[in-house]
Amino acid sequence: MKVTEHIENAKGKTLFSFEIIPPQKGKSIQELYDNIDPLMEFKPPFIDVTTSREEYIYIDRGNGLLDKKLTRMRPGTLGICASIKHKYNVDTVPHLLCGGFTQEETEYMLVDCQYLGINNVMALRGDAMKDEQSFTPKAGGNHYAIDLVRQINDLNCGKYLHEVMDIDNKADFCIGVAGYPEKHLESPSLQSDLKRLKEKVDAGADYVVTQMFFDNSKYFNFVKKAREIGITIPIIPGIKPIAVQRHLQILPQIFRIDLPEDLIDAIDKCKNNAEIKQVGIEWAVQQSLELKAAGVPFLHYYSMGKSENIRQIASQVF
Ligand code: FAD
Repeated sequence: MKVTEHIENAKGKTLFSFEIIPPQKGKSIQELYDNIDPLMEFKPPFIDVTTSREEYIYIDRGNGLLDKKLTRMRPGTLGICASIKHKYNVDTVPHLLCGGFTQEETEYMLVDCQYLGINNVMALRGDAMKDEQSFTPKAGGNHYAIDLVRQINDLNCGKYLHEVMDIDNKADFCIGVAGYPEKHLESPSLQSDLKRLKEKVDAGADYVVTQMFFDNSKYFNFVKKAREIGITIPIIPGIKPIAVQRHLQILPQIFRIDLPEDLIDAIDKCKNNAEIKQVGIEWAVQQSLELKAAGVPFLHYYSMGKSENIRQIASQVF
């Protein structure tokens, strides 16, 4: 079922969903199942599976020289989606990226999705690679998420990259896109970022999932401004509980988000990681309860491969 259909069927009730990251290559999928198992009691209608960009690794040739190789450390998004879908009888949402993929490769993935009965996808640009100044698409690839939305929408209209004779097989993908309550880091302003979001919606996006935020007023303001410029599709808030001290530095650094002073103070007072985790859980519970009271369609949690804190939050919210 489509994410938008789950929302319609819920008739105003807030539902639980979460995002997982594929294990590093060579590791077992059992690790993922062990993290998903405790969350299934909260009946997620869908689970997102991220896609990672390629990155450069350096291989020691043994003679003091290093070989630079481009590789994907966490492949397998589609296989994992198929496996979870069948094991748990739940919808899965693969993340599709512009970065690192040609349009042709993207089309093959979408065709695979159709075969697998996966009819929701998140259309994302991806970030620049670590040693890139700015995001560069692969030759023949999509540049912005809107280009990917257009490509998916073309398939929904039965338009493949190359004409397919005698086939009238329209895809029917429900398309999610990213939104940024504190603006995307490259965007000159929140308003201009919102205009870009509106363009993605006009190109065919069906729902938005937001970047994490720790101050609900940022989300409420974002939704208000989005509605003012005519974005009417569901805007699902993304929630990430703080779990370790390091999050105070890396989350603002990577995602350019602000952390509220009260949260920073509470974490600074913690004596160990167990206390920090507890503060993170309590903060996320308060955020979730307020968002739920405001009638958000889903509360979408970034599990980052750890489900215990998400389980504790969900047990107090759902
Ligand atoms: P876009 O919508 O293309 O926007 C990127 C930037 O370009 C923005 O600043 C926007 O304002 C600007 N822009 C858009 N269109 C134009 C235009 N026509 N001209 C000029 N500027 C323009 N990353 C991963 O690698 N894997 C994942 O699985 C993943 N999942 C994510 C899930 C969610 C819910 C979110 C919020 C993010 C996720 N990301 C993921 C991160 C995402 O790839 C990055 O934030 C990326 O930098 C931007 O992606 P986007 O889809 O928002 O890009």
